[in-house]
Amino acid sequence: MIREAPPEAVAVPRARLGEGPCWDPRTALLYWTDIPAGRIHRYDPVDGSHAVTEVGQPVGAMAPRSAGGLVVAVRDGFGFCDPEAGTFELVGRVDADRPGNRMNDGKCDPDGRFFAGTKAEDDTPGAAALYRLDPDLAVTRVVDDLTISNGLDWSADGRLFYFVDSPTRRIDLFDRDPATGAISGRRPFVELPADAGWPDGLTVDAEGCVWVALWGGSAVRRYRPDGRLDRVLRLPARLVTSCAFGGPDLDVLYVTTAAPDPGSSVPVGPGDGSLFACRVGVVGRPVHAFAG
Ligand code: CA
Repeated sequence: MIREAPPEAVAVPRARLGEGPCWDPRTALLYWTDIPAGRIHRYDPVDGSHAVTEVGQPVGAMAPRSAGGLVVAVRDGFGFCDPEAGTFELVGRVDADRPGNRMNDGKCDPDGRFFAGTKAEDDTPGAAALYRLDPDLAVTRVVDDLTISNGLDWSADGRLFYFVDSPTRRIDLFDRDPATGAISGRRPFVELPADAGWPDGLTVDAEGCVWVALWGGSAVRRYRPDGRLDRVLRLPARLVTSCAFGGPDLDVLYVTTAAPDPGSSVPVGPGDGSLFACRVGVVGRPVHAFAG
C-alpha cells in the first residue's frame, strides 16, 4: 500500500529559481540553491532552522565532499564551498570559450566524480555540455552538443546513467563502465508527452525508479526501471525544477520550484518558488560524496 500525504510547503524563503536539492547525511541538512541569486540554502528539518550562503555567482547544484563542505557547480565552473564559514573557491573552469554559459544541474557518480552540465543563459541550441570533475580536479567534457544539461543520476548497481537535456523532452539512458566511470550508448529511456512539461531534475529511489521534476508541468513523475509510468505527484506550483530524498531516513521527497521570470505575463502563484516536502511512501538512496 502506498502511504502518500499531500505535499507540504516548507517554512523557508521562496526562491526565484530553486534547484539542486541535496541531503547531506553528515550534517543532517538539506541543501538547495537559488540559481540566479547565487545562494545556497540549508535547512534542518529537526528544528526548522534555515540559513543562506552567498556564493557570489549563479550556482546550479552541489554535493557533499568527503573532505568536508560541498563541491558546487557555479556559473564559471566547479568550486568548493564551506557553507558554515561562507567561503567559496573556484577549482575548475568550464566553457571558458562560451561566455554566455553557466553551470546547471550536477551530482556525484558512485566513485565520487562530480558530473555537472551547462546551459546558455539564452538557451542557444547545442551550446551546452556535460562535464566531469575528478577527485584530482581534472575537468573533462563528457557529452557535447547539449542545450540545457539537466537532471542526472545513476542506477544502484552503477551500470546505468540517467540524463536529461530538457528540450529533447526525454530522459536518456547511458551504459556506465563501473571500472572507469565512462558513459556510452546513449538512448531514450522515457519520452515525455508535450502536455507534461519539460523534464528537469531527477533522482533514482531505493526501488530503482526514476522521479523526474516537470518544468511547466506542476508535477513530479515516477517511472519504473522498464520505463513505464508509475505515478504522478502533483505540486501546487507550475515550474517544478528538481527533487531529492532527504531526512535522516531518506523518506521525504524534497521538491524545488521556481517563480516565473520577472516581467513574464504569467502571474506568480502562491506555491511558486516554494520548497515542498512530500511523503511518497518510498525511500531514496544516500547521495554519493565527492571523493576529494
Ligand atoms: Ca534544472
